[in-house]
Amino acid sequence: MLEALADATVDLLLGSRCVGCDRPGRLLCHRCADGLAEPARVAWPTPVPPGLVTPWTAAEYAGTARALVVGHKERAMHALRGPLARLLARSVAAALEDAGLTAGPVVLVPVPSRRATVPARGHDPTWTITRGAAHLLRHAAYDANALRMLHFRARVADQSGLDAAARAANLADSLCCPASSLRRLARRRPEALLVVCDDVLTTGATAREAQRALEATGLRVVAVATAAATRKRVGSGAGPAFRGEG
Ligand SMILES: [Zn+2]
Repeated sequence: MLEALADATVDLLLGSRCVGCDRPGRLLCHRCADGLAEPARVAWPTPVPPGLVTPWTAAEYAGTARALVVGHKERAMHALRGPLARLLARSVAAALEDAGLTAGPVVLVPVPSRRATVPARGHDPTWTITRGAAHLLRHAAYDANALRMLHFRARVADQSGLDAAARAANLADSLCCPASSLRRLARRRPEALLVVCDDVLTTGATAREAQRALEATGLRVVAVATAAATRKRVGSGAGPAFRGEG
């Protein structure tokens, strides 16, 4: 009751609506938040980029989850950081549990934003939710930190509209892990395992390139974790499916 009143007040003041169902009130209503409470799972893209570590995700990139990502990334709705960070944290936790690595230090490495897009949007959405996820994981007793370790080498063409092969070619060798990042990691978390983090997994090409750039410096990447993943159709006529591991 009080909460409904509070939501109505918020709506009066800010005119906000739930990004999931468009009901007036908070930016993410309880019902839509509950709809995102499924356990994290393995979400192999199709085709799988060769050598990709196991990719984990907490939601299908559709409906409410998609609305969260788009609102946060494209419309700079900063209040959506919390729900997205929760999804990402769940994904990372599942990856670590699956690998039996819950005790040791882990560093969450965000896929970097392209230089041109960060100033335009005024924020770096992937870094923001990665930092939020590390914070949540520390509260859940994980030894987790977030570090920006990767940079784009040069201008890379916009990925949207490219198929998997074109994306892979566009991205090959596009990321690097500078010595300054390695020094920072060595200072703060010399023994840490790394998890590559992103908001959405689509073809896995960007995540694979991030993994390559980190592994090229001798670091160990144990998983990819994302808040959401696109659902891929496997084969012709087959139903949509997340490919399970094994
Ligand atoms: Zn809703």
